[in-house]
Amino acid sequence: MPRDFLKGAQDEYDVVVIGSGLAGLTSANILGRAGHRVLLLEQHYKLGGLATWFLRPGSHTFDISLHGFPHGMIKSCRRYWNRDISDRIVQLKNIRFDNPQFSLTTTFDREDFSRLLVEQFDQDPETVKSFFDTARGMNFYDDQTTTTGELFERFFPGRNDIVRLLMEPITYANGSTLEDPAITYGIVFSNFMSKGVYIYEGGTDDLIKRMKKELESNGVDIRINCPVDHIDIKDGRVNAVRVGDRTIRCRAVVSNANLRTTILKMIGEEKLDADYVQRTNAVRLNNSSTQVYMALKEGETIDESSGDLFFTSTAEEFKTESLLSRDITSRTFSFYYPRTRPWKTKERYAVVSSTNANWSDWNDLNEQDYEASKQDLVETTIDALERYLPGVRDKIEHAEAATPRTFQHYTLHERGASFGTKFEGLGVSRELPSQVGGMYHAGSVGIIMSGWLGAINYGVIVSNEVDQLLTSESSPV
Ligand SMILES: Cc1cc2nc3c(=O)[nH]c(=O)nc-3n(C[C@H](O)[C@H](O)[C@H](O)COP(=O)(O)OP(=O)(O)OC[C@H]3O[C@@H](n4cnc5c(N)ncnc54)[C@H](O)[C@@H]3O)c2cc1C
Repeated sequence: MPRDFLKGAQDEYDVVVIGSGLAGLTSANILGRAGHRVLLLEQHYKLGGLATWFLRPGSHTFDISLHGFPHGMIKSCRRYWNRDISDRIVQLKNIRFDNPQFSLTTTFDREDFSRLLVEQFDQDPETVKSFFDTARGMNFYDDQTTTTGELFERFFPGRNDIVRLLMEPITYANGSTLEDPAITYGIVFSNFMSKGVYIYEGGTDDLIKRMKKELESNGVDIRINCPVDHIDIKDGRVNAVRVGDRTIRCRAVVSNANLRTTILKMIGEEKLDADYVQRTNAVRLNNSSTQVYMALKEGETIDESSGDLFFTSTAEEFKTESLLSRDITSRTFSFYYPRTRPWKTKERYAVVSSTNANWSDWNDLNEQDYEASKQDLVETTIDALERYLPGVRDKIEHAEAATPRTFQHYTLHERGASFGTKFEGLGVSRELPSQVGGMYHAGSVGIIMSGWLGAINYGVIVSNEVDQLLTSESSPV
């Protein structure tokens, strides 16, 4: 008999949270803390969604999406989780770039970028200040017709190298392009680049363990291996969720699954206004990624001067489309030193290489070509790393690759989207409760609400709305 992962679960809750990505976990935590009866359903056998890790023999642990996030994580984690978590967030001080246009190391904050733009890129300090002030001053309700490319052209005309410095990390981080509205860049830029890049010391496994503990202390009923198949609507309101043959009633649902999947598959078009369905269908998914995970043999080390995050490229010029190409010219290396997991007794070094990728480049391959392509990705990535760490090939004990197919497999994000949907998804996500009473979505949409901080903050916004709904309605189910 298959194991019943819903054994002992109630037949009704105040709210069901579908998916345990950072937005889902945060929503569940806030709602549990507020005293609501919360059921958290995760289809995978682990919590965390894309904030995840895996183990390999030899005491190796690999992080998938722990490369860097903005300073704002400290405040969000302190307020909506606890100090135990927020106190473990530390700055990465050594961010490196190497490409045919420039090589440099930066602390990746406004002050250091200003210094570099003036001293190394010969810019007038006033222009630099004005650019930063403009990017910082943008808000979502501003003009959305100016593109990021036009914004750069206004301040740094014809300077592809400056565009590369200021844009490449953001494109790596979320696949945004020069054609996207400048506002999406402005917000991410001022979040990410104003105070540097941060990381959670302890590793993703430690973070999720502490989050689980906090959820349990707030009374959240957590169930893994529980894929939600359908959300039932009655009289224009959510009524229940279905997992296999179980129907669990609830007054509100927060879906952390992909926006399009939530609306088009779990709810169903027939329950929604035709123009809303049309707008949902028009929401574009974000691109996906490939990664290569490399762990060093016991006793082998990497010198700290290698940096924490290293943006490398062999492309002569910066073009956003070449960052997505299967013909890889750009790779971001994250170096993990033993300080990433200070609690471990065995000292281990690892490197993870990340590259943006198109779903179709991987999905269209047959199994044999897929395996060969993965192996080729591993080999060419090690070759690329050899340029910076000569002899590293012989020091590597384990190397393997993940592709857009891997990300889809583990999270059910269509086409392995790494950052949910493009920015037009935000309006559709926000409008969901007005289409179906009690139905909310919290998870990566657009550039602003994605990434670790964006997902957590979106979970906060949505859970406050759910809390208001639940407390304003006193009637039981
Ligand atoms: C390779 C890579 C590197 C990244 N690096 C960074 C980084 O350095 N910094 C950063 O800030 N961000 C990074 N990100 C992005 C970041 O990880 C995500 O934006 C964020 O974790 C997404 O959180 P989320 O809440 O949207 O949910 P997700 O993590 O997308 O989780 C959704 C959850 O819903 C579950 N689910 C889906 N369908 C169902 C269902 N039917 N029933 C039950 N459960 C379901 C999934 O299993 C999953 O657990 C990276 C992403 C990738 C792929």
